[in-house]
Amino acid sequence: MRKLFIAGNWKMNKTISETVELVNSLKREVSDIEGVDIVICPGFTSLSEAADLVIDSNIGLGAQNVYWQEKGAFTGEVSPMMLKDAGCKYVIIGHSERRKYFGETNDTVLKKINAVQSVRLIPIVCVGETLEERDNKKTIEVIEKQLQDGFKGINEDNLEKIIIAYEPVWAIGTGKTATPEQAEEIHKFIRDWIQEKYSLDLSEEVRIIYGGSVKASNAKELMSQKNIDGALVGGASLESQLFVELIKNSL
Ligand code: PEP
Repeated sequence: MRKLFIAGNWKMNKTISETVELVNSLKREVSDIEGVDIVICPGFTSLSEAADLVIDSNIGLGAQNVYWQEKGAFTGEVSPMMLKDAGCKYVIIGHSERRKYFGETNDTVLKKINAVQSVRLIPIVCVGETLEERDNKKTIEVIEKQLQDGFKGINEDNLEKIIIAYEPVWAIGTGKTATPEQAEEIHKFIRDWIQEKYSLDLSEEVRIIYGGSVKASNAKELMSQKNIDGALVGGASLESQLFVELIKNSL
């Protein structure tokens, strides 16, 4: 039985004091909620403050990006060990905004997965097609390539520790959500791909979450799909009440 996983990607939002306010409110509101892994991914500057606040709570902490080198002359980058040291358990890798604006590729995704797993951080790896790719009926081809290249050489033990986020690019921050059927079709494709390349057992273990304008009003329908195990949430994770309602509606 795969446990529901809901993560908030705060993107480039929230100062440290705003982080403190939001985390304190979330902590109060979700303290009694069970049966779901709840994770927040604030900006780098707020991570260690957030870590202190969530330490005694049912909220996990993740970062939004990482570099694959251990240390050295890489101005502006943050290493896996730095994230671990700041209190992170998770890290988002390959978000479409990183791919679009910062040159992230399937190859850098793979390097980052290997680097973070070497310090036992859990990667949340994003895949997804653009609108143009969907319109050109290339969705499956694109996702397959992202999986094939992004997970090249990752063994079964390590794939089990990865969370895969299917995020159609056209649905991120646009208010356009994939229909539950559209999302389920791709989630099933990903699970079948894992079964074919690895094993049936593994395909049943790996959590595949959906991202793209998830909100309280559509969470239930999306989460009730057989192969959707949770959500990666942008906009609706920035306000305590919206995020908590979304989580409750997903259970
Ligand atoms: C995201 O940032 O991963 C995302 C899904 O954003 P939104 O929920 O705002 O579409």
